[in-house]
Amino acid sequence: MILLVDDKQENILALKNTLNLYQFKTDTASSGKECLKKALRFPYELIILDVQMPGMDGFEVAHALSQYSKTEDIPIIFLSAVNISKDFVLQGLDHGARDYLIKPVDPDILVRKIRNYVNLFKNTRELKATQEALQQEIENKRRIEARKEEFVSMICHELNTPLTSIKGYVQLALRAAETGNNTNELLNRSVEQTQKLERLIADLMNSNRISNESLTYKYEIFPLDIFLEKAIDAVKHSYPSRHIALASKPQTHLFGDPVRLEQALINLLSNALKYSPPESPVDVLVDFPDKTRVRIQVKDNGIGIPEDRQSQIFQKFYRAGHTAETVPGLGLGLYISEEIIRHHTGEIGFSSKENEGSVFYFILPVYHP
Ligand code: ADP
Repeated sequence: MILLVDDKQENILALKNTLNLYQFKTDTASSGKECLKKALRFPYELIILDVQMPGMDGFEVAHALSQYSKTEDIPIIFLSAVNISKDFVLQGLDHGARDYLIKPVDPDILVRKIRNYVNLFKNTRELKATQEALQQEIENKRRIEARKEEFVSMICHELNTPLTSIKGYVQLALRAAETGNNTNELLNRSVEQTQKLERLIADLMNSNRISNESLTYKYEIFPLDIFLEKAIDAVKHSYPSRHIALASKPQTHLFGDPVRLEQALINLLSNALKYSPPESPVDVLVDFPDKTRVRIQVKDNGIGIPEDRQSQIFQKFYRAGHTAETVPGLGLGLYISEEIIRHHTGEIGFSSKENEGSVFYFILPVYHP
């Protein structure tokens, strides 16, 4: 599309008719201001600009167009009356015009010039787009590479923490055994750390399986009360000094994969313990929003999640910063839990207040024979 700019309607009309005859699509503007407005909104291939216009003259318009990245490379042809000096033409070319034509213009020459400029413009735009795409690709690769490195170092750090503890406890246990002291406590601690390590590795593997859509499920009917107790027991093994209270033992059954669901519940329980002070208890509450569904809530009185970070909490590898340095984790637990609950056509959510605590919950369909 070519934009024709002239304050005189008769000039525009004549030019428009000539160009339309040669199948060029045209648009018009009757002032410099209108030309600017339109050029910023629409990607014209060429602007044919009358120099002598009231208000903003052609030179000013060309200068303004050169200031915006959206319009800077649109070719401009100036048109002006016959009685102008060479200086005037030079000024026009200095202002960024590709060409300067004196009226009346020979249509054959005009049309050929327009074709050349339109082609030139198309080639420039294509080249620019290719360049930008290449630049983008390089930038993306660089970002992916940086993230990979960051990721590997984070994983090494997270895996190393329990491993160092295990080594420490085993060494202490060896020394205790040599001196005939009791090693039970030390070995138990090292088992707790081994379980944490196991869980981290399982999280990594499961997150990979989710990405490859190969996380498998084995559905069966199972009782909810036993399921809850098993999950709580498993977490207590890793956090033996912590208190987890189960308020009621609901007599109902679920249909789902108990191993995967246990994993989701363990994630919520571990988080509740990790992100709350060691002396504060964690409550597990069960209720029924309606006859067909059960809600399992895990409530803590911990550090909570700042409001501005809550929307990202289920994203893969997301850690709400304020805890990342002090509390171990990969930012995968909630991501995996959400996937598991979604697979069971359930719902997962939370409410949280910074420094007051959090309630994470999931709702699942109950089994009706
Ligand atoms: P991880 O605990 O390994 O970082 P999660 O996916 O389980 O990964 O949790 C993501 C982030 O959500 C955590 O890093 C933490 O900032 C925040 N979070 C999760 N649960 C709680 C909670 N109960 N209290 C406070 N913050 C939490």
